[in-house]
Amino acid sequence: MAGEKNRIITIANQKGGVGKTTTAINLATALAAIGERVLIVDLDPQGNASTGLGIERKERRYSSYDVLVGSHRIEDAVLHTAVPNLSIVPSTLDLLGLEMEISQHADRVFRLKKALQADDAQEYTYILIDCPPSFNLLTMNAMAAAHSVLVPLQCEFFALEGLSQLLETINQVRHSVNPTLDIQGIVLTMFDSRNNLAQQVVSDVRTHLGEKVYSTLIPRNVRVSEAPSYGKPAILYDLKCAGSQAYLQLASEVIQRERQRRAA
Ligand code: ADP
Ligand code: MG
Repeated sequence: MAGEKNRIITIANQKGGVGKTTTAINLATALAAIGERVLIVDLDPQGNASTGLGIERKERRYSSYDVLVGSHRIEDAVLHTAVPNLSIVPSTLDLLGLEMEISQHADRVFRLKKALQADDAQEYTYILIDCPPSFNLLTMNAMAAAHSVLVPLQCEFFALEGLSQLLETINQVRHSVNPTLDIQGIVLTMFDSRNNLAQQVVSDVRTHLGEKVYSTLIPRNVRVSEAPSYGKPAILYDLKCAGSQAYLQLASEVIQRERQRRAA
């Protein structure tokens, strides 16, 4: 059964450009580097997680679209990446049409959950789902399938405003499709220590959300933003850079929270 062996973490924020995909790729790589068997499910039609891991469009024979439509299994769509222990279910622009195609089906929100409960998904210890920047059927499928949500939050003025809407949505999901959905944590991204406003945002977010916020701050780092154009996670592109080091530290916090949860 899903739930015992693997942990399914949805990376979500309805805002674009806050670091969801960067976090999915680099957290997944960091987890794989310490021996976890990791699968990324790319649920964004843009396919940035797929591209950022060096998966070319012509290689994407089957994708998350085929899995959600129900015509193929996870196993059919999985591709290996250059990172040992890290696989991906890529996405394609087909996903844009999915909502129309399955909107009349009673199980439309549970398509991903069902696919991830199948035997072929049990070989992974962590499954990270990279969401599109909206609260649509794709994000709902991700939240219905997950054990927890990891929220990247960009250190900027409107960060908290969008966050309350997201927390409200997570509450609604608990009341409707996934009563046990947890918040793995909130990670502050693109932090610039020279910017006073960023410092203020960090302290506001910590005041409001306390221990939900990871201690790790992901710095704004040019190496992190360059890496995807080489089809590599930052951790492979430049392990020593501050951004890669921060993602390794985030991975150890994520694992520690999972351990505490299991012990509780
Ligand atoms: P989302 O998936 O939420 O839309 P992305 O992860 O694609 O956000 O990040 C948006 C942009 O910011 C991308 O160009 C990415 O390379 C860049 N970026 C993300 N994190 C960092 C970082 N820590 N330092 C510098 N650039 C970053
Ligand atoms: Mg993205």
